[in-house]
Amino acid sequence: KKILLECKNLMKYFETPRGMLHAVDDVTFRLEEGKTLGVVGESGCGKSTLGRTILRLLPSTGGQIIFDGKDITKLPDKEMLNLRKQMQIVFQDPFSSLDPKMTVSQIIEEPLKIHKLYNSKEKMSERVSELMEIVGLDDRYVNTYPHELDGGRRQRIGIARAIALNPKFIVCDEPVSALDVSIQAQILNLMMDLKEELGLTYIFITHDLSVVKHISDEILVLYLGKMVEKTSSDRLFENPLHPYTKALLSAIPIPDIAFKGKEAQVMKGEVTSPIEPPEGCRFASRCPNATERCFKVSPEFKEVEEDHFVACHLYE
Ligand code: SF4
Ligand code: MG
Repeated sequence: KKILLECKNLMKYFETPRGMLHAVDDVTFRLEEGKTLGVVGESGCGKSTLGRTILRLLPSTGGQIIFDGKDITKLPDKEMLNLRKQMQIVFQDPFSSLDPKMTVSQIIEEPLKIHKLYNSKEKMSERVSELMEIVGLDDRYVNTYPHELDGGRRQRIGIARAIALNPKFIVCDEPVSALDVSIQAQILNLMMDLKEELGLTYIFITHDLSVVKHISDEILVLYLGKMVEKTSSDRLFENPLHPYTKALLSAIPIPDIAFKGKEAQVMKGEVTSPIEPPEGCRFASRCPNATERCFKVSPEFKEVEEDHFVACHLYE
């Protein structure tokens, strides 16, 4: 099986007036081609920063990013531009940062123009039509503006744009979080169909575990920039080990969850600041199982059963 993406001890720190913010701290994983890795955690846990750092939209502070066998950590911008065709992103709201004067076709065309893929207008608009069809957007919207469309259709445009250059890999950053629940399933189904049809590999970022349950092969749980648990999606739901994962799962408002009936773990206490985080486990201030040792010694991220990794002193 081919490894498409590998992160080794990846770090992204930001300087702030109060000190160094450890947004992504020592993240290591491998992602096989054709698989989906769900990346889960509360807002501010570093998920989006991780996605952007992998895509080199943000420079990393340390560690390595290996994509398709190539170390891209320090690849010059010019080479990166070429590689960008293969690595794309779908945002939560693709239009918050775009010119509201652009039509649907202009938005989808933009990446094709940047990469000079077509030299005739006809070929370009043929490709735009084709992309609209692939993502299930009616042709009649070609000259409309995104604000005239509902959230689901807007996200279809964002997806069309992301697949326009035939990428291998897409970071999906909360792509359904802003949508009505009824539309979430449609967009998720579309994304999973595209994954099969186009042979894509996904990192799927979300704060909502129920969203990634069925679409992820593996799930990585982050807490304040640190990996706290990683295993197959099935196992994570059947047998979560880290107290933070358990707390996240108990907050899921869906009835078919394995934790039904069990008392919800209550997350208490203040969140540790990711700025100059103290020694010890970053979850200790909220953890129902914390001992004195947890506040002093940082738990190692290690394999406690086959293909099940966790960073917690309870499993040492
Ligand atoms: Fe809780 Fe300690 Fe485990 Fe951290 S290391 S999750 S504080 S038990
Ligand atoms: Mg985010």
